[in-house]
Amino acid sequence: MDGAVIDVDYEQPAALQNEGGPVCDTRHAWARVPPEPTPSERLQLKDRIRQLLRERDAVMVSHYYVHPDLQDLAEETGGLVSDSLEMARFGRDHAARTLVVSGVRFMGETAKILSPDKRVLMPDLDANCSLDLGCPVDAFSAFCDAHPDRTVVVYANTSAAVKARADWLVTSSCALDVVRALHAQGRKILWGPDRHLGDYIRRETGADMVSWQGACIVHDEFKALELELLMKDHPAARVLVHPESPADVVALADAVGSTSAILNAARQMEAKEFIVATDTGMLHKLRTLNPGKTFIEAPTAGNGATCKSCAHCPWMAMNGLADVARVLETGAGEVQVDPALGLRARVPIDRMLAFTAGLKKGLPAGGLIAGIGAA
Ligand code: SF4
Repeated sequence: MDGAVIDVDYEQPAALQNEGGPVCDTRHAWARVPPEPTPSERLQLKDRIRQLLRERDAVMVSHYYVHPDLQDLAEETGGLVSDSLEMARFGRDHAARTLVVSGVRFMGETAKILSPDKRVLMPDLDANCSLDLGCPVDAFSAFCDAHPDRTVVVYANTSAAVKARADWLVTSSCALDVVRALHAQGRKILWGPDRHLGDYIRRETGADMVSWQGACIVHDEFKALELELLMKDHPAARVLVHPESPADVVALADAVGSTSAILNAARQMEAKEFIVATDTGMLHKLRTLNPGKTFIEAPTAGNGATCKSCAHCPWMAMNGLADVARVLETGAGEVQVDPALGLRARVPIDRMLAFTAGLKKGLPAGGLIAGIGAA
């Protein structure tokens, strides 16, 4: 399809060190951003997608960071817009035979792993993630092999093969709870792939952790110095930060958490103005749910900034209405996961889902960890 192809730099750990973990070098990838449809094309595409969803027994599952059209259409047609944890749950539990996952590749793979008998379509299978790209399974497995005494906890933003190497999977909405519970049982943790989220979890839980050194190209670019200047211009604003951001940005936050936690904080806080350090795709939902409040993007640029991302993920931007219609029409863009690999990758995902379901019921975290029984 047509669209601007852009180069994207990301970091990949290149070598193993004894205790410090891997060091990084810069690699290159690409993203292809589809052209914005005209207003009349937009209306036609939405009508076509509504019809195809009915005809194909399909439901849309969209991430908070994708285009507002794909968020609104998902909700309007009985699908879901949410974070990766809820996307995984929803896809697994929904009766539709086809899931259309608008997001990045690991989200489609997770949906397929949890629903191997369903057809999982994505608008663009090349939509990737710097955390996934920066954590190739062979190098990560070698890191795990070098630390056999540690429980391997990986973030959702990883390939099926990396998930299959893990004991636990977490998203940013449950990472603290899982690691805190493992730490309380005396477990030492090997964490991957996001170094900032890993450092945040270590600071919050006190767990003994070694970390893979990957980073999200969006959140890694938020700048503390410029954020402080912005805060001076907006002294009444509250600061909401995703923990994939650097520690000096997290330190300035009034609330730190996953996309869902950021939404909750914006709803519950009395303030009328917020500075938000996460992908700008999130602003659509924040503004829709909080019409009387103002949301300002946290700065990514400034002295010394490379502004690789400008706060919007180039791979999330690959999702567009035309491709949703196309994959529903043709069946192209189907996510495939090797069944045997999928079965192995499902183990840490199911542990996470059982753990978070137990927490929701008020069960004690320590008992859940022991009951679920990961290595
Ligand atoms: S925003 Fe960051 S973590 Fe999310 S998909 Fe893009 S690169 Fe990956």
